Amino acid sequence: MRSDGAARKKKPKKVVRVLVYWPAEQWDAMAARWPQFVPEYGDDHDTHRRMVEDMLRRHAEDSGATLGVASLTVDGLVEFAAAREFDAAGSETRAAYAAELGRAGTVTSWPPAQRQKCWCGSGRTYRECCAAI
Ligand SMILES: [Zn+2]
Repeated sequence: MRSDGAARKKKPKKVVRVLVYWPAEQWDAMAARWPQFVPEYGDDHDTHRRMVEDMLRRHAEDSGATLGVASLTVDGLVEFAAAREFDAAGSETRAAYAAELGRAGTVTSWPPAQRQKCWCGSGRTYRECCAAI
């Protein structure tokens, strides 16, 4: 197994910027539970996916941070909030949950190599999926 294009520069920066992503299979459950989230995330899943890719590209341009995508689940967010007595609907809670996933190492680093599976969970390669947006 070779690390396809995962350029090995000196030491990776420890700054990790993690963006929130709702995978396709979570989208409807998220929208049913928290309809107020939907406009913020782009009205439908396809728009959401494009928005996240676009935000990642912009962050990549203007910061040297290591970027990651935290794929949230409704159950995961509810459990995270309940354990800390946070409001599951609060935007700070989502940010804290994404940061927690980042610390736990359960985020997808971005960008994937062109021939790797896309970060969005489509099953296609990055090149044929979100890289083509
Ligand atoms: Zn994709």
